[in-house]
Amino acid sequence: MHWGVKGLGNIEEIKAYLSEAPYCPVCYYTNIIMDKQYRWLFRQNYHSEPFINQLSEGGFCSVHSWQVGKSPQAYDMTYPYSTVLNNYAYQIYGLLNEIKRRTKKKTGLLSYFYSRLFGNRQPKDKSNFLQCPFCDLQKRSDLYYLTRLLRGLDSGKLIKLYNNSPGLCRIHLYQALKKCSDKTRVILLGKALETVEEVLKDLEEYKRKRDYRYKDEPKGSEQTAWQTAMQMYDGYRKYDS
Ligand SMILES: [Zn+2]
Ligand SMILES: [Zn+2]
Repeated sequence: MHWGVKGLGNIEEIKAYLSEAPYCPVCYYTNIIMDKQYRWLFRQNYHSEPFINQLSEGGFCSVHSWQVGKSPQAYDMTYPYSTVLNNYAYQIYGLLNEIKRRTKKKTGLLSYFYSRLFGNRQPKDKSNFLQCPFCDLQKRSDLYYLTRLLRGLDSGKLIKLYNNSPGLCRIHLYQALKKCSDKTRVILLGKALETVEEVLKDLEEYKRKRDYRYKDEPKGSEQTAWQTAMQMYDGYRKYDS
């Protein structure tokens, strides 16, 4: 099982991702990690015992299940899901039997059987619970890159490069602001403001060129400003591996 986040040992790698990212560098890095993991899953991970156990305990979330299911190799899910569904049937059977067996006066679900059936799908504690392996990886990958990026900004090594990048999306900006020094907060917020103002200009420009009086003017970056705006505001999770 390698649901790890590897390959970012030094500042040079952080820099490389930062300078080539076409949108939020944290989203960008995690999208690359996720792509690798999808490929890895189908190469050899899908029949490994730890993976099947993890799936039996939490399952994929519906977004990532859909993503896995549309892979050309999705038929390989036959193997893990045979085990996962066997286990599921066994747990359903246990709960069903207990409900049938008990006296009529009792109501409510039997917590032991109920938690065996769904227990691990529920948050055990909000900071650390079993969840979809891809959601889990996504979260860890974000944190991995963000932590190193902030370290580089706090030490002053990445400021110039960061200011030339597309900057963090709103989701990662929120996470970053909780983790860095005031000096870095000023950099992050300054960059965010500058980027938002640029995109706003493009959005206005797009609307202006929709007007029949200006519609023959050459088209530019304003044509895809909506996309930049959405990626910047909502984050950008790429789902086509
Ligand atoms: Zn982001
Ligand atoms: Zn997920």
